[in-house]
Amino acid sequence: MKRLQDKIRQEGLILSDKVLKVDSFLNHQVDTELVLAIGEEFAAAFAGDGITKVLTIEASGIQFAMATAIALKVPFIYAKKKKTLTQGAHVYAADVYSFTKEEAYRVTVDQSFLTPEDTVLIVDDFLATGAALVGLADIVAQSGASLAGVGCVIEKSFQEGRSLLEQRSIRIVSLARIASMSPGRISFA
Ligand code: 5GP
Repeated sequence: MKRLQDKIRQEGLILSDKVLKVDSFLNHQVDTELVLAIGEEFAAAFAGDGITKVLTIEASGIQFAMATAIALKVPFIYAKKKKTLTQGAHVYAADVYSFTKEEAYRVTVDQSFLTPEDTVLIVDDFLATGAALVGLADIVAQSGASLAGVGCVIEKSFQEGRSLLEQRSIRIVSLARIASMSPGRISFA
């Protein structure tokens, strides 16, 4: 997606050869026009797949899942990272190791929101090590729903996430694929 790549070049901050900061337009302050366009791209890519739910993980995937779900006219679900008082006992759960926070956490989805009749599209902001998306794919598998694929806004193709998902035969649609980066330099695949 050229518009996204241009924005990454203009405003992305490369903190190291592995971490890209996009806080000015995606992850903290949000460019709503761009996010709506991202939702349209994912919706178009999976238009023929009969998606019934879009699934993401709180918090940084929410705006992309919402934009995609609006374009597809289906609900979206965000997996929760913290157990809350309002949460029921019947949840699907997966343990995820966070590459940016360097800690493991458990994500949960209420069992009533995913059923074997659902066809799910998983959406997230980054594909890095793949841990978050594999965790969400595990949750979809636990529910018996079908997984149509995953949509990643930014894929860092030099990390292992893509191959981890491909090993599971999961279809991946990434809107910007970074082949390599280092402070002051970025190249797209
Ligand atoms: P994973 O390693 O599981 O593929 O990535 C998990 C999460 O870490 C992503 O959803 C994203 O929120 C965050 N993340 C991974 N790499 C980056 C990065 O380079 N920049 C930012 N801002 N977040 C990242």
